[in-house]
Amino acid sequence: MSRSAHPAGPRYADVLPEGHYTAPPADLNQLDRTVWSQTVERGTEGAVTVGGMDVRQLAEEFGTPAYFLDEADFRARCRAWRDAFGQGADVFYAGKAFLSRAVVRWLYEEGLNLDVCSGGELATALEAGMPADRIALHGNNKSVDEITRAIEVGVGRIVLDSFQEIARVAHIAGRLGRRQAVQIRVTVGVEAHTHEFIATAHEDQKFGLALGRGTSQPEAGGGQAAEAVRRVLKLDSLELTGIHSHIGSQIFDMAGFEVSARRVVGLLTEIRDEHGVELPEIDLGGGLGIAYTPEDDPSEPHDIAKSLGDIVRRECESAGLAVPRLSVEPGRAIVGPTAFTLYEVGTIKELEGLRTYVSVDGGMSDNIRTALYDAEYSVALASRASEAPPMLSRVVGKHCESGDIVVRDAFLPADLAPGDLLAVPATGAYCRSMASNYNHALRPPVVAVKDGSARTIVRRETEEDLLRLDVG
Ligand SMILES: *Cc1c(COP(=O)(O)O)cnc(C)c1O
Repeated sequence: MSRSAHPAGPRYADVLPEGHYTAPPADLNQLDRTVWSQTVERGTEGAVTVGGMDVRQLAEEFGTPAYFLDEADFRARCRAWRDAFGQGADVFYAGKAFLSRAVVRWLYEEGLNLDVCSGGELATALEAGMPADRIALHGNNKSVDEITRAIEVGVGRIVLDSFQEIARVAHIAGRLGRRQAVQIRVTVGVEAHTHEFIATAHEDQKFGLALGRGTSQPEAGGGQAAEAVRRVLKLDSLELTGIHSHIGSQIFDMAGFEVSARRVVGLLTEIRDEHGVELPEIDLGGGLGIAYTPEDDPSEPHDIAKSLGDIVRRECESAGLAVPRLSVEPGRAIVGPTAFTLYEVGTIKELEGLRTYVSVDGGMSDNIRTALYDAEYSVALASRASEAPPMLSRVVGKHCESGDIVVRDAFLPADLAPGDLLAVPATGAYCRSMASNYNHALRPPVVAVKDGSARTIVRRETEEDLLRLDVG
């Protein structure tokens, strides 16, 4: 997922990327269970339904484009993570994936905690009634206002990301007469994305304090992380509860977590040896992968919990440390698979011998991930079934950019026509939360569907919303 010279990514203008599937699926109408939320199926006339509601009726009522979120699936995923990790661990949902007041209430009811990384996310969480002690504040450059508000309301932890921030948080907590629980975010020199991880050379990034890289004070032993620990332990207004690490995104291979856990436990051992304290918590971050296409094969929370638990236990045993309380921070793995985006087809352009461009009524303003990361998605004709043969298609948006691609390569039925509805699954994470007003697009609503009823949880923007900010 590297960036390339072309703004649309390295595969732009290729016919098909090498190694990509070239054969259409046997049945275009079949909804592959791996990419759709649990209540999605085909109903009358082959139209897709979610939570018992037909997409044609949903489009009629809520318009397109729109995100439809399967509430039962969201809650089931929360419970699966909660149950898999059990009493000895905490699950923090990463709010940046998608946050709204309804989502905060579901998280609360299902027993999850919440990561926020801005004042806006914190305000949303508090407004929806999440107890502050179940909130963690993240970020590599939290403002004084953000830190002050977080300490005032009593967030459960602040994850410290730099030397300046250690001083800043300590000062603000001291002024408020508080002792704030904090973790130190370390860079373990592991970066993981999808199927491979790199165990070295990734300390060159803005997040965290490096385990291996020294400070400007060569007399102090260890790296930046060890120095951060020394500083925090000296400050009365901070209570160091643990070490935090987050290694990447859309990870399928647990080997990266294994290296990261080993390095974090290594630091806990150094801390015990140098300071005589055993820190009670470690946080291994999020980044667990989901299926965007049927080729992706994510692990179940139960297997992830077992594997992370085993790794931490083994490392602690060999270091002679008591096993700390573990936390994890899935964002995408909870909300990603729960929603699909519904679009209406506007125009269809056939480039003979190449492919067919299918333009929908949204695009990079509601899903930037294809343009930004070369993300892959799948797509299905949702308003009806079709027996027409497959046609190699590229689903594109309506924005003024040739990189405005929603689904780079997809097979759709050859009888596709303007007015048909297309559904793109697995758009629950990092789509609405990264949506923009490019071309003055009105950001789509998020509609929660459950047991035969649908309700808007984030409404569609209006021209009035746009113009309200434009003070003339
Ligand atoms: C983004 C992020 C997460 C969540 O990542 P996902 O890929 O959505 O699971 C968790 N922790 C931290 C610190 C993050 O920055």
